[in-house]
Amino acid sequence: SELWQNVPLAPPDSIFKLTAAYKADSYDKKVNLGVGAYRDDNDKPWILPVVRKVEEIILNTPALDHEYLPITGLPEFTVAAAKLILGPDSRAIAEGRVTTVQTISGTGANHLGALFLSRFYQWTGDKKEVYLSDPTWANHPAIFNNVGIAPLYYPYYDPKTLGLNFDGFLSSLKSAPSGSVFLIHACAHNPTGVDPTRDQWNAIAEIMLEKGHYGFFDCAYQGFASGDLDNDAWAVRFFVEQGVNMLVCQSFAKNAGLYGERVGALHIVSPGKEAAERVKSQLSVLQRSEISNPPSYGARIVTLILNDAALFEEWKRDISTMAGRIIDMRKELFKILTEELHTPGNWDHIVNQIGMFSFTGITPEQSKALTEKAHIYLTVNGRISMTGLNRNNIRYFATSLDAAVR
Ligand code: PMP
Repeated sequence: SELWQNVPLAPPDSIFKLTAAYKADSYDKKVNLGVGAYRDDNDKPWILPVVRKVEEIILNTPALDHEYLPITGLPEFTVAAAKLILGPDSRAIAEGRVTTVQTISGTGANHLGALFLSRFYQWTGDKKEVYLSDPTWANHPAIFNNVGIAPLYYPYYDPKTLGLNFDGFLSSLKSAPSGSVFLIHACAHNPTGVDPTRDQWNAIAEIMLEKGHYGFFDCAYQGFASGDLDNDAWAVRFFVEQGVNMLVCQSFAKNAGLYGERVGALHIVSPGKEAAERVKSQLSVLQRSEISNPPSYGARIVTLILNDAALFEEWKRDISTMAGRIIDMRKELFKILTEELHTPGNWDHIVNQIGMFSFTGITPEQSKALTEKAHIYLTVNGRISMTGLNRNNIRYFATSLDAAVR
C-alpha cells in the first residue's frame, strides 16, 4: 500500500483553531477569550518594559555569542530559577538536593519530568500512571501518554459550587495506592482558576506524606495569580519544606511574557545531595538525545533580570501590572453582571477565581451561542481568558453573556 496510508488525519489543536477562527472573523466587535497569552488594555501583546531594557543590554554585550549552552542549560539561569520558585532561603537548595535543568519552557519541563519518571520512578507493580486534576491543561494527558504513563483523574472542580471539590480530591489521595504520582497545579489552576486555600494545601500535604505520594508540580503562572512571586510559590515551598517527594515544572512564558522564547526549568528535589547528582546525570543523558542544548536567548534575558536587584524590582512591577489588570477586569465584569445587568445566577466565582482564566460555569450551548451570535471566541467548556477583556470590550462581553444565559 501507499506510504502513510496508515496515518489518520488528526484534528487541529482546539485552542489554536479558535485563534484562527477569531483572526478570520471580520466583525469589528469580535472578542478573543481563548488563548492564554497576556494582552494589554488595547488588546495587544505586551513586551515587558524590563525585557525590552535587558534586550538592549544583550545587544550591546559583544561577549554574548551564539555558542551552545551546556546540556543542562545556562548555569546562572538554573541557579537563579531554582531560587525564584523554591525561595532564596530554601533548605533543599542549601543542602544540594535540588537538580535543575533548563527546558523548552513549561511544556518541555513537563515532558522531561514525565520522561524521567517513566524511566526511573519506583513504580509499584508494572503500571505507570499519573493522577491529573479533572479538568486540567489539555496537554497534560498528551505529554504523559507520549512517555507511556497513563493518565487517571482525581476530582478537582465542582460544577455545583464552581469551586474546589476538596472532599473528592482528598478521598482520591487517600484511596490511590501508596507512592502514586499526583500532578498538582502550583497556582492559578488552568482551566478553572480555582486553587486550594492554605488550610487545604496543609491537608493535601499531610496525606501525600502519609501515603508517600509523589508530587509533580506544574507552575506556569508564578506571579500571575496574585501579582506576587512569593505568594504564588507558597504551596511549592511548603510542600518541599514538609518533605514531600516532588519535582517542579517552571515556565517563564507568562510571567516574563517570553512565550515564543521557550524559557523554563525542571527542578527535581531529591532526599540527598548524592541522589541529586545521579538524577542530574540521567537528566543530562535524556536531554542530550532530545534537544542536545536548550536555547540561550530567553534564558539570558531571564538570567539578567533575576541576578540584578534593580531589574528584578522592575520585573516585579511589570508582573503586578499584568496581574492587576486581570484582577481589575474580574471586578469590573462582576460589577456589570451583578449591579447593572442583574444577570441571573451567582457570579461570585468571577472574583474568587484567580489567574489568567475563569471558568464561567456556562453550558457548552451557551458558549457556542456566544461565538455564533456575538463573535466571542472561547472554549466550549466555558473557560474565558480574562486577559482578552479590556475597557473597550468588557461591556459588550458582559451584555452578550447576559443574553446567552437568560
Ligand atoms: N502548564 C500549564 C498548566 C499551562 O497552562 C501552560 C501554558 N499554557 C504550560 C504548562 C506550559 O506553557 P509553556 O510551554 O508555554 O511554558
